[in-house]
Amino acid sequence: MAEETLLPGAKVSVLLGLGSNLGGRREFIERAVRLIDEIEGVELKNLSSLVETEPVGGPPQGRYLNGAAELETALEPRDLLNRLQEVETELGRVRKVLNGPRNIDLDILLFGDLVIEAGDLVLPHPRMCERAFVLEPLNEIAPGRVHPVKRKSVEELLEELRSAVARVSATGETERPS
Ligand code: AMP
Repeated sequence: MAEETLLPGAKVSVLLGLGSNLGGRREFIERAVRLIDEIEGVELKNLSSLVETEPVGGPPQGRYLNGAAELETALEPRDLLNRLQEVETELGRVRKVLNGPRNIDLDILLFGDLVIEAGDLVLPHPRMCERAFVLEPLNEIAPGRVHPVKRKSVEELLEELRSAVARVSATGETERPS
């Protein structure tokens, strides 16, 4: 899929997913949010409440706290990703086990209407539509935001996911929403 270009210097609204399941989870997320707000060229606009969720995939591990944040930035997507990874490193994140426990996890969910499919950066975030722990906090701060590929709002995506989950628990069907 083509990578759309941004107007140089134009500010873009970005939605982030925040998660932690190790140590002082709330404190890690709060510290991450403060560090994100201090990144040059980034302005924090909105922050959801933090919800406790069950881990999905990976090895057995503790429950997560998850939230979402809205930023405005004129940074390029990869620059923002690099800055966010620096925040993860500053908070002591070590990548050991794939999908394993982590004291902080920062994901770029939506970056304006950009669609990117590169090895190191995929936008919109490829698994956001399958995860209630992503869509629920996102729905709190950006229900009307439209996913540029699915062309559905966050509220519609969450509704679709909830219906799919209800169908699976009623029938044992395993199909994921399209
Ligand atoms: P994680 O272990 O969930 O923090 O995944 C981090 C890896 O996912 C990094 O190598 C990133 O380059 C890659 N990645 C791809 N797309 C995204 C995205 N939209 N947001 C954050 N990380 C991403």
